[in-house]
Amino acid sequence: MGIVVRGLTKQFGATRVLDRVSFEIRRGELVALLGPSGGGKSTVLRIIAGLEIPDVGEVLLGGRVATHTRVQDRNIGFVFQGYALFRHLTVRENIAFGLTIRKRPRTEITRAVDELLTLVQLEGLGERYPNELSGGQRQRVALARALAPGTSLLLLDEPFGALDAKVRLDLRAWLRRLHKEREITGVFVTHDQEEAMTLADRVIVMNKGRVEQIGTPEEIYDRPATEFVATFVGSTN
Ligand code: ADP
Ligand code: MG
Repeated sequence: MGIVVRGLTKQFGATRVLDRVSFEIRRGELVALLGPSGGGKSTVLRIIAGLEIPDVGEVLLGGRVATHTRVQDRNIGFVFQGYALFRHLTVRENIAFGLTIRKRPRTEITRAVDELLTLVQLEGLGERYPNELSGGQRQRVALARALAPGTSLLLLDEPFGALDAKVRLDLRAWLRRLHKEREITGVFVTHDQEEAMTLADRVIVMNKGRVEQIGTPEEIYDRPATEFVATFVGSTN
């Protein structure tokens, strides 16, 4: 589903974390929220997910104002920074969690989990516990858990951050493929300009609570709108 973010402003104490942030994401797009640490990226994602309420502004999901829609009714998959899996649950139980708490029939849950295990290429590992998996495998479990059936919007906060280079590349390719096959709208947060530019259809550059530029990777490379964008995107980090 598409997202419209209009005039989001958010203050924590005396600090203005977001200052009139607006953008639109079309259905089926894969978009990167790119910027340095502390710029407000996670806060934007949390507001879209319904985990945080803006002081001013609104979010439309699938054309409807979502401000008063409960988190669990938003049909959003969310992967937090640091991929917190439930350590005492198996891979299958982790992936099934959202369906279990929604009291779906057991046969339906089994079928859905089988499908998700295949999708994230973890067949045969369903009975393992998180500490028996590699970092990349754990992150794919977190992604599978976020992708409960019917999820049409996936929000990923620094999903590749804690992974080594090879696993990161595999997971990027996998996300790209998943996105194409399922036509899921995806928003991922990153401070890595190379990651944003190679993976996203469009990039939203944020700094100090403001949107600096929105465009395709080519537009941002060729015509940076501000000095900040030119410096940040041109840097190798
Ligand atoms: P980013 O994800 O771009 O690193 P964040 O959205 O996490 O940025 O944070 C933006 C700013 O808001 C930071 O200065 C951070 O310390 C502050 N902040 C975020 N969440 C809270 C909170 N719950 N309470 C107080 N300050 C917060
Ligand atoms: Mg963050």
